[in-house]
Amino acid sequence: MGQKAKIIWSELSVYIYITIGLIIYGTGVTLFMLPYEVTSGGVTGIASLIFFATGFEVQNSYLIINLALLLAAVKILGWKFCVKTIYGVLFLTFYMWLLQRLVLDADGNLPRLVQDQTFMAVVLGAVFEGIGLGICFSHDGSTGGTDIIAAIVHKYRDISLGQVIMLCDCIIISSSYFVFVDKYGETVAWQKIVFGFVTFIIAGITLDYSMNRTRQSVQFMIFSRNYRKIADKINTTGRGVTVLDGQGWYTKTERKVVVCLVRKREAQQIFQMIKSVDPYCFVSMANVQGVYGEGFDPMKAKLKAAKPTLVFATNNEHKLEEVRKMVGDKFEIRSLDDINCRMELPETSDTIEGNAMQKAEFVKRYYGFDCFADDTGLECAALGGEPGVHTARYASDDGHDNEANMNKLLANLADKDDRTAQFRTAIALIYNGGRYTFEGVVKGHIALERQGEQGFGYDPIFVPEGHTETFAQLGADVKNNISHRARAVQQLCEFLNKK
Ligand code: IMP
Repeated sequence: MGQKAKIIWSELSVYIYITIGLIIYGTGVTLFMLPYEVTSGGVTGIASLIFFATGFEVQNSYLIINLALLLAAVKILGWKFCVKTIYGVLFLTFYMWLLQRLVLDADGNLPRLVQDQTFMAVVLGAVFEGIGLGICFSHDGSTGGTDIIAAIVHKYRDISLGQVIMLCDCIIISSSYFVFVDKYGETVAWQKIVFGFVTFIIAGITLDYSMNRTRQSVQFMIFSRNYRKIADKINTTGRGVTVLDGQGWYTKTERKVVVCLVRKREAQQIFQMIKSVDPYCFVSMANVQGVYGEGFDPMKAKLKAAKPTLVFATNNEHKLEEVRKMVGDKFEIRSLDDINCRMELPETSDTIEGNAMQKAEFVKRYYGFDCFADDTGLECAALGGEPGVHTARYASDDGHDNEANMNKLLANLADKDDRTAQFRTAIALIYNGGRYTFEGVVKGHIALERQGEQGFGYDPIFVPEGHTETFAQLGADVKNNISHRARAVQQLCEFLNKK
């Protein structure tokens, strides 16, 4: 499969999983909660209460409340956060509408599948809800509602999403008392609250279980004379491997032990690899409670940091130095090395803005840090904006061969009169749940030949407007004042300083 097809398939499979999760969740609510008039929190809980009190169909109030919340969310948190949520809300509205049409009996009532056993219905409903939400959340999906409120509150206050969702749910379940007390009297109203909280607790436990299942990891310890081959093979999957020194105590011979942590779903593949190299190998596989960093989960513990940390998704010392100088003391800027990220960040977009956001998203997703990433393009007027997004890999796909890149550019401009060009940097920032982009441009022209020793990349052939020397001659102090990155970072800093 080509790189593009892989990306499309991985995005598509995320939506397939989210859809399955929503179907399970919607089935739980429609078949087990609504017919028994139990509310379990969330916007579906509010919508259910409206339904019990007025008969107004659940999915309609669910949609209206969510649309209002989404409008606020788009404004406060940005589009990117909302795409999967919008999909979740629309699909769930449609699915609940459809399912009700399919199961309504002749009198227009929802059937009670487990007769009068409300408790059984509550348990089943909660399990469906938990599993459905688990699948949905594991793929960054959402059913909207309290998730949106939580994300908005989280943006301004240091309260975890879980705490906000829990608080909202408790308020919603407790308020079901007022809906039921008039309809059925005190006893039944209290019963409904108890059922609501039972659902809430079981759904919570099932949700954790179902989310942890997909995240569960195992640790392999592999004792084999063919450890090199096995380690190399496992490396091809993208997972890291460590080889430890050991000693077989009976034979007193040196032994190497291959240690490797993988997701449980990858275990079968690892066994196949081991067996194909050494069918008689001695190997153990153990469940581990959690694996953090290096492509697994971000560590949850919060440090009482003196300064907030931002990761700059690069290991380029020049850039780090430039940016650290400009950001100053307010934030601690860490590099990819500092967070032990040794993976290659994706850069497959056809715009520099897209590449920058892809890299920032990757760090946020796999390492959990707020982060910014940059991408720069050198755009030459006479070449229709080329090399543009291909600047780093202009001369060859292996990339970052500065000499070859400059040679190619000088050759392509050799017969052109117009040598004007601009460096354009896009910075994508993920900060406190929001996504932002900044742009910096420096206009200039491409010199006829290399001049100067300082800087990096195309610095020896780029002459900024208002100067006669190249960036490589002007040096860091001048460049840091006027460069494309400096201008983009300046905007980033202005933004961060207002925070
Ligand atoms: P990146 O997206 O920042 O990695 O930049 C892509 C390519 O643009 C780099 O490989 C460099 O060749 C070039 N480049 C980026 N910034 C500069 C700069 O400040 N001076 C010269 N070349 C640069």
